[in-house]
Amino acid sequence: MPSCVAVTPRRLPGIVISRDADGGASQSPCARAGRMALARVAPVALAAGRAAALSTSSPVARRPIAVAARRVDPSTNLVALVSRSSSPGKLRHAAVATDAAPTAPPAADTLTYVDTHCHLDLIFQKMTSEAKKGKKGDAAVVDFDSWRHQLTQLEDPDSESYLGAQLEACLTVACSRRAMDAVRDILPKPGVFAAFGCHPLSAHEWDADMASAVESAVADENNAVVAVGECGLDYHYALKEIEADESLADDAAREARWEEVRKTQEDVFVAQMKMATRLGAPLVIHTREAEADTLRLMREHLRKDARVHVHCFTSSASLARTLLGEYPNLCLGFTGVCTFKNGGDVREVVRSTPLDRILLETDGPYMAPAPHRGAVAHPGHVPHIAKKIAEVKGVRAEEVFAQCRANTRRTYGF
Ligand SMILES: [Zn+2]
Repeated sequence: MPSCVAVTPRRLPGIVISRDADGGASQSPCARAGRMALARVAPVALAAGRAAALSTSSPVARRPIAVAARRVDPSTNLVALVSRSSSPGKLRHAAVATDAAPTAPPAADTLTYVDTHCHLDLIFQKMTSEAKKGKKGDAAVVDFDSWRHQLTQLEDPDSESYLGAQLEACLTVACSRRAMDAVRDILPKPGVFAAFGCHPLSAHEWDADMASAVESAVADENNAVVAVGECGLDYHYALKEIEADESLADDAAREARWEEVRKTQEDVFVAQMKMATRLGAPLVIHTREAEADTLRLMREHLRKDARVHVHCFTSSASLARTLLGEYPNLCLGFTGVCTFKNGGDVREVVRSTPLDRILLETDGPYMAPAPHRGAVAHPGHVPHIAKKIAEVKGVRAEEVFAQCRANTRRTYGF
């Protein structure tokens, strides 16, 4: 639509957020272009102590973390860093850890959030291809800077698009060889942390080289790679692939391939659990239609005090209960799925999961929350998920933002 382009040529598709639950209308990059104020970056200073002051008194929260947490002064949040246009440098080490005593709780408009699981490389790739759709190849490439610039405008507390909190940081997950290269190209960036590992659907890529690349990246205190994963078991897509594979002549051949794939996923998952244990690093787990095996392998290979993020949790309430009961430092990540009309089961799990065991994540570019379904999901969508969780649990959104921020720090050290 040319009229939109004329208003704000730099607007990017899929990343408009609005406080209205008005369905598809708010997805339009044009819808609010005329009302968008110029960027005025609000000072954001949600100190660690303040977050703690707001948090509930979880026994987990007081439990010492097994490794020296790599802490970042929250005042060096992404918004502030972008506004200063400082060199991102070695973020974790540029910042000074603070144990400042809690003061007054922050005003609602200074709350911040972290997207604890997204795939920035895929987000920018998808946004770029959306931007080029219908244009003759001359649309702008969406990259970290252009995306961040736009989100900063949208998160101006005085703007109509403001959803009650600002993006402070995100954890981008690289779980294939390709993704590790792509994320290395993105890093370092202010407020961007990473997990390196091997996804179960990329398990065939895992070898000694990849293992040592992951291990050395996570072990290196001077980069932004802070966790191992995502790793785990995914029987859903593995079975689909086998069903669709025409080179497999009969059931016996399919059965044999299935055993091979299952065994490979299992070995690669186990290797990464051991690695995370060795490094004292948090572990990101992906599990889909593989509950019993996931639980069995975790019981065999993970310490009970391991810091674990079971991401995009869509498994059963009973698995959730068991995991939360057995692993006191384990959190469940909830994505836009909890906002979907058909997300009732996930909302039930949200309802029964204590707030101090929840991490906010988009898993962008996938599964954009309502009212942005169908758009490219990105970290700026987190507030929609937080608000849904608040609604489901009958608490204030501010409480969800503050507690989940504290949960992130406890799990990932930032
Ligand atoms: Zn993911």
